Amino acid sequence: MKKYGYFVGSLLIVMCVILCSTAAYSQFSANQFPAKKIKDMPNYKEYSDEIMYLVANRMGIRITNDIPKPKIITDREITIEEFGRLTGHLGAKAKCSYYFYKLNIILVSGDVNLSVLAHEFVHYFQVQYKKIDPEMILLGWDFLEPEALLIEDWFKRNFIEIK
Ligand SMILES: [Zn+2]
Repeated sequence: MKKYGYFVGSLLIVMCVILCSTAAYSQFSANQFPAKKIKDMPNYKEYSDEIMYLVANRMGIRITNDIPKPKIITDREITIEEFGRLTGHLGAKAKCSYYFYKLNIILVSGDVNLSVLAHEFVHYFQVQYKKIDPEMILLGWDFLEPEALLIEDWFKRNFIEIK
């Protein structure tokens, strides 16, 4: 009888672990973010915290309150001249999504979906949490780009609604 009780107990623990992990997963279920362009989502910033946590989790980063969250703006909130000045590409003809790491600002282009926000959050974590200074490393942003592209793709496949 005692042996049986032990077996049931173990079974309950196993079931609980399975249920808990399922619950943790369904909290971040697939297809939860709209496949719309950012410019067609006036409320797009409502998703930013959730996306930030998903990316942090994927990168194995623990978010702390000591490090300020980035400010998020769209390309409508910045002129082409400002963009050129801030990126160092003075003759820039078009604005693209970008992480201005010295200002801790993420710029997202209105023509893309939320996966680009996941991409820029990777750069935020690389700089603010992993303490990588793009100006101090060989290849600069080119070195940081593969990880951002990989996570952007992962985010797109797992969390953007399929239409
Ligand atoms: Zn990038």
